[in-house]
Amino acid sequence: MLPTIAIIGRPNVGKSSLFNRLVGRRLAIVDDTPGVTRDRKEAEATIGGRPLRFIDTAGLEEAPPESLAGRMHASSEAAIRQADLVVFVIDARAGITPPDRAFAAWLRRQSVPVLLVANKTEGRQGGLAAMEGYELGLGDPLPVSAEHGEGISALQADILNLLPEAPEEEAGGEGRPLRLAIVGRPNAGKSTLLNTLLGEERMITGPEPGLTRDAVQVEWSDAAGRVRLVDTAGLRKRARIEAALEKMSVGATIGALKECEVAILVLDALLGMDEQDLRIARLAEREGRAVVIALNKWDAVEDRAAARRRVEDVLQTSLAQSKGVPVVPISAATGQGVDKLMPAVRRVEALWNTRVPTGALNRWFEAVLARHPPPLVDGRRIKLRYATQAKARPPTLLVFGTRAEQLPEEYRRYLVNTFREAFDMPGVPIRLHARGTA
Ligand code: GDP
Ligand code: GDP
Repeated sequence: MLPTIAIIGRPNVGKSSLFNRLVGRRLAIVDDTPGVTRDRKEAEATIGGRPLRFIDTAGLEEAPPESLAGRMHASSEAAIRQADLVVFVIDARAGITPPDRAFAAWLRRQSVPVLLVANKTEGRQGGLAAMEGYELGLGDPLPVSAEHGEGISALQADILNLLPEAPEEEAGGEGRPLRLAIVGRPNAGKSTLLNTLLGEERMITGPEPGLTRDAVQVEWSDAAGRVRLVDTAGLRKRARIEAALEKMSVGATIGALKECEVAILVLDALLGMDEQDLRIARLAEREGRAVVIALNKWDAVEDRAAARRRVEDVLQTSLAQSKGVPVVPISAATGQGVDKLMPAVRRVEALWNTRVPTGALNRWFEAVLARHPPPLVDGRRIKLRYATQAKARPPTLLVFGTRAEQLPEEYRRYLVNTFREAFDMPGVPIRLHARGTA
């Protein structure tokens, strides 16, 4: 069975237009009259190499206005039951209407992931109009214009991100490569590690279209799929990789951290984790990257327990956000322990990609609010109403409520830490945005 995406929303928001854009056909009848009877349409389309099935629910929602919301639920429910992802469409020109709100409230209780799309956002005020959609508590509204074909590739990318992983992706197969950065201060052993990794794994290099002729991607595959090294100085020639890594400046490190998904921070275990290492780790955290620490030169360490404790102490005290970041002792030079590194990278990658279903998220949210309600600010209570995960990579929480924007820092940390624990995401940077609602 193909992964299925149901497009739902009240009449006339542009579901059919969007469906046509996504499946690349212009066959569905698009009509100005709300509630024009149409059959439910289904079509297959390939996005990013992945075959998917789309269901357009337009025409299922016609009903007398007073029962519209109820009818929409009934007809959309059938589509949602089959769906792996719901694309919920609103009309940014019309603004949020009561049926949108009712529909959103209902969707928030379902376990299927929801992607909120604000259609009809062409023109100058379009993006702004889309922002209204935030109040629905379904994450970032994605602005598109089905009619003008705007925002469609962003929508396709979000659809791919939100769908569960394709089952048993072949190693080195079709999937997107994991973008990996190897960072650390000079002499930590980054080049040695890269060579060991490449020596052990199949290496795929080749000219990449769009790059200069001598550009070479350093790409290999591990058990889980393709891996692409993100390097900043720009990977010119294989022979120069070492030099490029060695010269990595702070600016280059930031560049690599922005581009990567997971960063391996290489530490020299003989030296421990000092200010310079911490600075890089904090940069990774700031960029929202998943991190694995490679505690290198393990072969040369005499008191291993002490060396490990030293690093973990620093992590505990100075890197609160990255609580639980995996530490893998390795010897890049002898290869010892290096086989544990990529599996650790894949584990944090998976956590970093986590999407918590809205239902589970709100159960957690209610429980933490009940256990420890938000404090008074200037003598007035902050009333939080609901939470939603705006995105993954890194997991980003949006909480809504009265005066939510005044949420004190400690309370934000409480939410983030309990979220990380409840959904078991050690070492993953988690973002939290709070938005006030009337
Ligand atoms: P549905 O009932 O939700 O399937 O909506 P349709 O796809 O039939 O579209 C309803 C109306 O909105 C039609 O008149 C479309 O031409 C119009 N429409 C669809 N997408 C856009 C858009 O991006 N911008 C504007 N301005 N109009 C759109
Ligand atoms: P980079 O500047 O981070 O790329 O570090 P290099 O890979 O050039 O390594 C710096 C020095 O550390 C070199 O002399 C390496 O031989 C040494 N080195 C790297 N990995 C290990 C290791 O696992 N054990 C030991 N004992 N030395 C290592």
